Amino acid sequence: MTEMVYRLGPGCEVDDVVEGNIYIGKVQGFATFGTFVQLNDKTKGLLHKSNVKTEKKERDTILVLVNQIRPNGNIDLREVIMEEGSYETKLVSKKVVISKLSDLRNKLGRNITVEADVVQIKQTSGPTIFTVCDETGTEDAAAFTEAGVRSYPEVQLGDVVRIFGEANKRNNQVQIEVSDMIILRGEEADHVRARINRALEERAEPPADVEPLVDSEVLRALWPEMRKLAKIVRRAVLTQQPIILRHHADADGICAAVSVETAVLQYIRENGGDPDMDNFLFRRSPSKAPFYEIEDVTRDLDMMLKDNVRFGQKFPLILLMDNGSTEEDMPSYKMTEVYNLDVIVADHHHPDDTIDKYLLAHVNPYHVGGDFGVTAGMLGTEIARLIFPGIEKKILHFPAVAGVADRSEAPELQQYLALIDGKYTIDECRDMALALDYEQYWLRFNDGREIVKDILNINNAADRHNRLVALLVEEANAAITEQVETMMPHVKEQVLESGAHLFQADVEMFAHRFTFPPPGKSSGEVHDVLCKKYAGEPIVTLGLGPDFAVIRSRDVLMNIPQMVRSMRDEMPGAGISGGGHLVVGSIKFVEGMRSEVIAKMIEKISEFGVEEL
Ligand code: MN
Repeated sequence: MTEMVYRLGPGCEVDDVVEGNIYIGKVQGFATFGTFVQLNDKTKGLLHKSNVKTEKKERDTILVLVNQIRPNGNIDLREVIMEEGSYETKLVSKKVVISKLSDLRNKLGRNITVEADVVQIKQTSGPTIFTVCDETGTEDAAAFTEAGVRSYPEVQLGDVVRIFGEANKRNNQVQIEVSDMIILRGEEADHVRARINRALEERAEPPADVEPLVDSEVLRALWPEMRKLAKIVRRAVLTQQPIILRHHADADGICAAVSVETAVLQYIRENGGDPDMDNFLFRRSPSKAPFYEIEDVTRDLDMMLKDNVRFGQKFPLILLMDNGSTEEDMPSYKMTEVYNLDVIVADHHHPDDTIDKYLLAHVNPYHVGGDFGVTAGMLGTEIARLIFPGIEKKILHFPAVAGVADRSEAPELQQYLALIDGKYTIDECRDMALALDYEQYWLRFNDGREIVKDILNINNAADRHNRLVALLVEEANAAITEQVETMMPHVKEQVLESGAHLFQADVEMFAHRFTFPPPGKSSGEVHDVLCKKYAGEPIVTLGLGPDFAVIRSRDVLMNIPQMVRSMRDEMPGAGISGGGHLVVGSIKFVEGMRSEVIAKMIEKISEFGVEEL
């Protein structure tokens, strides 16, 4: 039987050496008590002079048997003499211990190996930064070839890699200095990917003990879908997938979006991220319309594709709140489909089921027999708690603000108000809602993150909050009063066959334009005045622009989305589109068909019955 002689491979350490085995070594130097022999670059042993058999000089090759490995790691050797050809040699490769990313902070300055998914590749003017994610966390790995030159160009986003390197700290963050990186393929990659996936599935699962804040049949029925949506958001955070949160730019939409924003940012921090530095990981964008307009999706795609090229970023998760459920979103969804984007929706507008094939999750009270009274802000607050329960106290008043903003008549609103009893009155909630609407008008497409936080009093600056809201409410009310007083004398009234009052308010000719309140809000305010004047009677108010109409109603059995669809079919050449809620909505048309469209609309509205009182 031929003897086996081992050669200790690069990277091997004392842990890889086995007592009793013979190794090929190299003489490193001499001391009075013996000879130092290197087994590889890192590992050496001592050949006591009593165990030396032949005369050697530095750098000579020598065969040694490992007598003993002492507890302190010292290796005692004995020289052996063997005929060349009488033995086989075998390379010992490093026993790879795979470290977990979450454990690297305990291994600073040490050589480590990790197996992870590449989630971002960013070329800096110095090294290439690979952001990698395993089942325990996310860290950066820096690889350097030459300043500004892409290291490991074969490694692409989504590859599973094995990285050898040293764990270090940079800017107070753990970073791996890469000494080598290989792409795992085939079964090996599948295995690692499955392991990471399994763990992520578990980590992304929202906490099991979170229940709705209020006793609500609708929320109970929606809970599984809300958990599903929250899980998708949590998973995006854990895998460094950027999140774009699009929301209707009104108080309800803002409450929905800011609650989720608060939760997501906290969850990012909790997982070692820094949302202030990496603020591209989460972006909140208000949409003017209560649906995902082509203009919005185009901006999002533009930014996403540039970030993908510039920062090696993944494609984002798109979350739509207080918009996204209707047929009007379809053209944008077709765009997201081209890029295979993940889209999820939490909305309380009347949903069209034709859009569900584009969505990974869709929370909507109409799906479970509820209606718009359970507003987006209520849904958002509950979803935020599922994403990060710790923020609950901070956002507890959001559902009430959202509910009064959208004039919810659902029993849930009373319960949400009761939750903040002693902290905020219903009037204070109304004021916050009005201040949000007013300020968002001037913010236009900007999220106004910090101003909005002041309005909603989550910036720990109560005095500033009070003064700001008081001022905004005063300004908003003055503008509304002025607008309504200007419009009222021009409102035209008629009584429909159904007995409902129909009012036409011209928001083009007899209202201030391009200022607050905008046409939708102006029509709403006029409608409110009329509702008071005709208390207890069914009312429809049309706010008429040159090529649009805003529809408000009370105690009339309207179905605006259906009305718009039938008008579109019956009036070719009128360019009709629109929708909204069942009883509150809007319609667009071409200016040249204005009078025909208004006549047809009135005809349709008079066909709707009125609520029996
Ligand atoms: Mn809403």
